[in-house]
Amino acid sequence: MTVTPIARVAVPVPRRQTFDFLIPAHLALQPGARVRVPFGARCLVGVVIAIGADSALTITRLKPVAEVLDLQPVIPSKLLDTLVWAADYYHHPLGEVIATALPIPLRQGSPVKPRQPQTYCLTDAGLAFDSAALDRAAVQQRLLELLRAAPAQRLSAEQCRQVSPSWRRAMMALAGKHLITVQEAPVPPAVDTSPAPPITLNASQRAATSAIIDSLDGYQAFLLHGVTGSGKTEVYLRVVETVIARGGQALVLVPEIALTPQLIARFRQRIDAVVVVLHSGLSLAERHQAWWAASTGAAGVVLGTRSAVFTPLPRPGVCIVDEEHDTSYKQQDGFRYHARDLVLYRAKLEGFPVVLGSATPSLETLANAANGRHRRLELPVRAGSAKLPRIHLLDLRRTPTDTGLSTPLIAAIRQRLERGEQSLVFLNRRGYAPVLFCRQCHWHAQCPRCDAKLTYHKRRNHLRCHHCGHETPVPVDCPQCGHASLLNLGEGTQRIEESLGASFPCATILRIDRDATRRKGHLEESLQRIHEGEADILVGTQLLAKGHDFPNVTLVGVINSDQGLYSVDFRAAEHLFQQIIQVAGRAGRADKAGDVLIQTWYPAHPYFASLLAHDYEGFAEATLAERQEAHYPPYSHFALLRAESNHEQAAIGFLHFARDQALQVTQQMRTKGVVFMDPVPAPMEKRAGRYRAQLLVSAAHRPPLHRVLTSWLLRLEKSPRSSKVRWSIDVDPVDLY
Ligand code: ADP
Ligand code: ZN
Ligand code: ZN
Repeated sequence: MTVTPIARVAVPVPRRQTFDFLIPAHLALQPGARVRVPFGARCLVGVVIAIGADSALTITRLKPVAEVLDLQPVIPSKLLDTLVWAADYYHHPLGEVIATALPIPLRQGSPVKPRQPQTYCLTDAGLAFDSAALDRAAVQQRLLELLRAAPAQRLSAEQCRQVSPSWRRAMMALAGKHLITVQEAPVPPAVDTSPAPPITLNASQRAATSAIIDSLDGYQAFLLHGVTGSGKTEVYLRVVETVIARGGQALVLVPEIALTPQLIARFRQRIDAVVVVLHSGLSLAERHQAWWAASTGAAGVVLGTRSAVFTPLPRPGVCIVDEEHDTSYKQQDGFRYHARDLVLYRAKLEGFPVVLGSATPSLETLANAANGRHRRLELPVRAGSAKLPRIHLLDLRRTPTDTGLSTPLIAAIRQRLERGEQSLVFLNRRGYAPVLFCRQCHWHAQCPRCDAKLTYHKRRNHLRCHHCGHETPVPVDCPQCGHASLLNLGEGTQRIEESLGASFPCATILRIDRDATRRKGHLEESLQRIHEGEADILVGTQLLAKGHDFPNVTLVGVINSDQGLYSVDFRAAEHLFQQIIQVAGRAGRADKAGDVLIQTWYPAHPYFASLLAHDYEGFAEATLAERQEAHYPPYSHFALLRAESNHEQAAIGFLHFARDQALQVTQQMRTKGVVFMDPVPAPMEKRAGRYRAQLLVSAAHRPPLHRVLTSWLLRLEKSPRSSKVRWSIDVDPVDLY
């Protein structure tokens, strides 16, 4: 009897199973390669997980693979193992997990080798052209001048993007005038000849660097706990330099909005290897090219956000996770993985060290350092001559703030203006005012689709919901009682910007939030203006707080920090502390001392005692003790089943059904120690017109939790009730909303 080979294929469909196909005799196939397979009436691109000789189905019912897309695996075997583990751990369909890990063109079946990147070259006509003639087309003019100055008169798309977000249109116009040509070839990597500033590491930087370098040969996780401005980036650079010198590759993960041109430039300047960048602002082709450069080994350094964790690396040498506590490492929909946790698994399998850096490590990571799983390295002081900023509280019960800004804060900003220094005013709320309120009847503007208030946006004069995007004009009179007694309550960044403008009419004020930086490239431009000293006062949300090095900022004002103190989310205090330390860390990073002024209604809250002392450690210890007492993570493990529906009772009804199923499963399996809470409405029950509910599952140990989840979810999936609502599972949820 002849044995027919069978391929087990993961297909991007929302099903928790793989599918088997016959391999026609003339096709050579390896695990990790893509294939086209018939699926219902369609043909889908899947990835081969395994090759074997038997199948659960009888061979005669199996269909053959339609087409083999890769001779070599696009996903190397150990990375494939990590993905299989992740699908298991997060209880997400493997086909979708694998699709997430591939660049979009590869998911669609494009050849694994991308088209060469385009290069823009000056023609002879362009060289001779008088660029003054382009004075009415500023972008074209700047591109032309940049091309003249560039080595070999060539520029890459990435270099052009620095000029303007609308560079592509301008470049096409230049091509139309025959001043440039487009070629399909990579620009040879720019060799930055400007010497890096000679930095002598201080003793703790040296100790940290050599500890990491001494264990480059295999897996080890390090927690690099360094206060803001302590020179963590300098440690990363030395480690990466060493990895490159030994022929390895480095993966550097950063939070979503921290991937700034300054950071990229710092790596390009210092590291003697091709540095590729991966983030959501790139075109599909650019991402594919960067992925290709990394997976062929041509790139030495991959610098990217969350999803860069899936990049294949033939010679992995180290992974750095900067600001490891940042919540943007957790994907909040679809495949809800945590990039930090995933890379730890991957590193163990592939045998390279991981450096988790932060000034305010997550409590999970601190617990892992305490129990010896991670090795702890400390940078306790700021690098160079910089000192940590002084933190002061401004008691809002005693200082009037009609404009949102208290008198002492205004005085402090005035002082900075007189000294030619910059101030940064932080509040985590965009828009003008968060509440439109009627003095007569106490009506307030509410989103019709969400359990949320509408925010007033003054510039476009409308009310907008920050949860679903709903927009509506501002009523002149109260819609409920008809009186002209509407009032804007509270502050958003726009109102603070306005108040600052009224107090300091001569100052240049720059607002940075998602509304102000919606246009592509705008955030980068604003950051550049700050660095060049063009702005006196910066107002912004957390977009301003992360990772930036603004040497001339000596004052940070925090407008309203109190929401985090009394929140229902058990992690709110941790996140608030991290956020304030981060934003405070923007003050006094160079040789000038910094001050942080925090406006609060609750100056006596015990939380502030540790904050004033920069005692994150003390705060973390106390909070960890509380969590242990309450059986909260990291001392127990959570999974959250979420459901939503257009019908008010359907979501919660489904969760009650799910809970009954869970109890049957645990009884059948005789598992102990997995607790299913009562289903409850989500903290914001209605959102974008849908009713949401959730069911929390907790367990002291992971193995029984995962065993139960596996059978339970399969059962739910098979039940006809499960198709009536939208539901999903979130393992290790970072927020319970
Ligand atoms: P972190 O990443 O910990 O916030 P950075 O690495 O950005 O800190 O360093 C903060 C500043 O201190 C940078 O301007 C950096 O060039 C400088 N710096 C780092 N290490 C040293 C050192 N050993 N001596 C002097 N300056 C340093
Ligand atoms: Zn009214
Ligand atoms: Zn809404």
